[in-house]
Amino acid sequence: MRISVAIPVIVMSLAAAHCAGQEDYAEARRTMVREHLRARDISDPRVLEVMGRVPRHEFVPAILRSQAYADHALPIAESQTISQPYIVALMTQLAEIEEDHAVLEVGTGSGYQSAVLAEMVREVYTIEIIPELAESAQAKLAALGYENVYGKTGDGYLGWEENAPYDAILVTAAAPEVPPPLIAQLAPGGILVIPVGPQSQVQQLLRIEKAEDGTTTTKVIIPVVFVPLVRERR
Ligand code: SAM
Repeated sequence: MRISVAIPVIVMSLAAAHCAGQEDYAEARRTMVREHLRARDISDPRVLEVMGRVPRHEFVPAILRSQAYADHALPIAESQTISQPYIVALMTQLAEIEEDHAVLEVGTGSGYQSAVLAEMVREVYTIEIIPELAESAQAKLAALGYENVYGKTGDGYLGWEENAPYDAILVTAAAPEVPPPLIAQLAPGGILVIPVGPQSQVQQLLRIEKAEDGTTTTKVIIPVVFVPLVRERR
């Protein structure tokens, strides 16, 4: 049973955090794609290409940059996490997104998953419940030139009705159940990728497809451990 654990133990020196150059990051990205994505089950060429291009090190705290492309999640501000690269790639691949799609992400966090999506689709809408994270992610995405990502602070359990329907919805925090508003805001033929299960325990990553007649088909993908989807700021 493969379990993706969200919070790793960090062991590093301050000096190591600051000495990597752009070519080191490019090499680290190539290694990440080869050893942690392609060697597993990430086969969508668009996902592999984009994961090989987006500067993940820009989305992690400066002190942890040397670990940005390692095979685990990392802590970010406000006691939250940036997901493991493999999980970002897997969720993106499962969503079967296309260039003309509009995608909703719940749980902006660092903004990294938003950037990966923004490289692949027409529009990305992203919701974060912690205002400081929503603001810093928007600032980072703007500084990196992403013009098709629209963010807001709020409770993503409720979705973002004004811009619905969405061709895909990715939830990057663990919900106790599938939020009905997200199913409602999914376009016919759309796909919801979401970890569902109890807090601080193993959850299941689900891929839920909505048929033209509104019925849904759920596939259990893998066990995962995500930070919880909360209904109000802690
Ligand atoms: N996608 C992020 C990235 O690329 O860095 C990782 C997200 S982190 C694993 C989960 C995020 O979901 C946290 O930033 C957390 O504050 C946020 N979150 C938790 N509950 C939420 C809710 N109800 N609505 C929106 N965001 C929520």
